Amino acid sequence: MKVELKNIGKKYEGRDEFTLRHIDLEIDDKDFCVILGPSGCGKSTLLRMIAGLNSITEGELLFNDRLMNKVSPKDRDVSMVFQSYALYPHMTCYDNMAFSLAMRKVSKKTIHDRVMEAAKVLQIEDYLYSKPSDISGGQRQRVALGRAMVRKPSVFLLDEPLSNLDAKLREHMRIELVRLHHQLETTTIYVTHDQTEAMTMATKIVLMNDGIIQQVGHPEEFYNKPENIFVAKFIGSPTMNIFYGRYKDGQFICDECAMKIIPTKEDQKRLKAFDGKEIAVGIRSERFITEKKEENSVEIRIEVVEMLGKEKVLYGKIEDKKDIIITVPGYYEYKMNEKHFITFDNQALHFFDRETEERI
Ligand code: ADP
Ligand code: MG
Repeated sequence: MKVELKNIGKKYEGRDEFTLRHIDLEIDDKDFCVILGPSGCGKSTLLRMIAGLNSITEGELLFNDRLMNKVSPKDRDVSMVFQSYALYPHMTCYDNMAFSLAMRKVSKKTIHDRVMEAAKVLQIEDYLYSKPSDISGGQRQRVALGRAMVRKPSVFLLDEPLSNLDAKLREHMRIELVRLHHQLETTTIYVTHDQTEAMTMATKIVLMNDGIIQQVGHPEEFYNKPENIFVAKFIGSPTMNIFYGRYKDGQFICDECAMKIIPTKEDQKRLKAFDGKEIAVGIRSERFITEKKEENSVEIRIEVVEMLGKEKVLYGKIEDKKDIIITVPGYYEYKMNEKHFITFDNQALHFFDRETEERI
């Protein structure tokens, strides 16, 4: 099902400010859309409006071109999974999954078939007759997913469903969710504050900050073409390096770190309008040339080396002033307090207007 939001705004009663403003968004049928953003930016509010659990202050919500603003939650054909799982503790996993169908007076036979089908996909057949308190967090999360699945909704709504799981299990469930989505092909809207979840699962990411959409696109677009400094810093780990300075006569002059960069011809074309102006340059940690000293290399001092196995993350300073983060292959020899020369790969630079913070 296609889900469309047209200029949606939300103002909670008793609050002076709008929590969400001008939300324009199209989620296509079969999309796995991840709504991403820091805590408090309005993600859950948005999801609950789609579910019908929060009222819509202004704008239009459409499912397959049908206006849904006033349709009650139970008639929206959506299923929601919460971070807390919200299972009934006194019921078995089977009954938890069967409950909403039983309420809808679906026949016992159909209920059984649906529960068993979901249990098989989620590999929870072995503990269907256990109570939620007797199974692990990961298993409970699957039951919560199963409960959403048996309804065969047109849209899945998931609100930080993996937040309560440990790191290993979270990684595993990420892959399972992608597999499940491939299998069911149900339009999915997934809320998280975790950029890794967004980057690994989404067919479409919606990054929000402070109630406003910052960028919408495919994960690769986010990584390679962030539309502003907020997006650039939110996506990717370690965080993108940002340097402030001035653009003059075809050169970026960084005041913070006594260094100059000459952008590519292509970048220079776009930077023409910024001659003499303050701009910012962004570069991801893996885009430095570390192998040899070049004409425009700068010297850095390494303060901390983080060994992650396949790579090392170097936290250092340029000219003892400006922080810099560099990643190198794990087998490279780098130690604390060493000095090294590095070069900015000018093919990999992101330029931003310092004033508006928008991409140039
Ligand atoms: P997120 O899910 O991104 O962490 P939320 O949508 O939960 O953010 O909250 C966004 C903002 O709306 C927060 O400032 C929060 O305090 C406020 N908020 C959430 N629910 C309510 C409510 N029922 N009444 C008033 N304000 C609320
Ligand atoms: Mg939330």
